[in-house]
Amino acid sequence: MGLAKQMQRCVSSAEENLGHLEEQLLRGGHELMRQMLEKAAKADAASPRCPVCQQPLRSLNGGHRTTIQTRFGAIQVQRARGKCRRCHKWRFPADAALGLPAEGTQSPAVQEIAALTVSKMPAAEAAQLVERLVGVKISAATLGRQARQQGERAQEKRQALDEQMSGPDGRVQQDRDLQLQLALEPFTLVIELDAWNIRERDAWGESAAQRARGAEPPRWHWVYGGTCFRLAHRGETAGGRATILSRGYAMTRGGIEALREQLWAEASRRGLGRANEVLIVADGAVWIWHLAGDRFPQARQRVDFYHVSEHLWTVARALHPDDESAARAWVEPLLAKLKADEGCAVITELAQLRPRLEGAASAHLEREINYLQSNRQRLDYGTAKARGEPLGSGAMESTCRQYQCRFKRPGQFWTQTGDEALLCLETIRRNGRWHLLFPHSAPIDPSKN
Ligand SMILES: [Zn+2]
Repeated sequence: MGLAKQMQRCVSSAEENLGHLEEQLLRGGHELMRQMLEKAAKADAASPRCPVCQQPLRSLNGGHRTTIQTRFGAIQVQRARGKCRRCHKWRFPADAALGLPAEGTQSPAVQEIAALTVSKMPAAEAAQLVERLVGVKISAATLGRQARQQGERAQEKRQALDEQMSGPDGRVQQDRDLQLQLALEPFTLVIELDAWNIRERDAWGESAAQRARGAEPPRWHWVYGGTCFRLAHRGETAGGRATILSRGYAMTRGGIEALREQLWAEASRRGLGRANEVLIVADGAVWIWHLAGDRFPQARQRVDFYHVSEHLWTVARALHPDDESAARAWVEPLLAKLKADEGCAVITELAQLRPRLEGAASAHLEREINYLQSNRQRLDYGTAKARGEPLGSGAMESTCRQYQCRFKRPGQFWTQTGDEALLCLETIRRNGRWHLLFPHSAPIDPSKN
């Protein structure tokens, strides 16, 4: 029965609503579109050159059949094959033109579907969602493998872009207003950093052997992240929620050095070289200030206000262990001093407590004095308020929480290479460069990038 006829029968049935019509059209339309795609998917006009080394191919002959998984189901394609003398391999130049990797059988749309869903949820869930929404059955194993391959492609892309960014051609990657050298108001570039940990099982099946040697297999590993945005791009939604119009992200399982280079490249795209001022806001972690001094030596530094207040609360509770309101009465004037740029006065007050405390409480106090001492140049909250700058690194912390929703699901185990691939996919999408991996996806408005 034709699709149009089926639809009519559908409309006239009392038990079915618009949803049934949509479903009917999606399922029925698939076969039609699959056939159209199969007819259209001819790429043998492509120049018979090796897609890897560009050498002309020899011994060219046609008619080699392959099955490609597409978003409308499997299609059969016939294409020519030729021998590359340099690579010593048979090549199918049409495959590259169709967007298939060597020996790949998943269409670019299926590649994207895998990348998009598996970077958001476990592959088994993704398979169910894809079948329900897209209407094609793709196994969890295929989706997982495909997402991993796309993530590795994303890492290669990131590497190439980051390397270009540090050369003279880097300017083509900058925000459009920076490229066009539009008369820019002087601006402050804000950079926030943070880290979170991820659970991995690197050595599958080796845990027992490692334990037998007395070594607990490492499971928790650090993911390092950063974000950057122009101060003027910070605003509020109609509902009063803080929002940032345009921002860049870096997130990696590859260590602090990897973050340093990725974040530097991203900050450069977003105006690092043109900013009047650069401001780094983060919690007190030592690696952050090392990284900042290394790669962003021009930046002002600020330690997150909330973290500092937590440190003062620790002292308050040591002074008034069983009296929350007395602790509050002690800490609040100090927080007010911090907000008035009087960090040094706060440190002096803490130092005056030394004779009053002993034992564990005294050790607490020393630790907190040290913390404030080492950050005393980073306690400029009065200036922050006056200039409308962030007092803390909340923007980065909420970003980390969003990533964690995917990577900290209970009962899941990851490997470092798999993690990095998926982290990179998520980050490339957030950075507005998804179309560089999947050119068929609508390019994002460059003015918003
Ligand atoms: Zn070749």
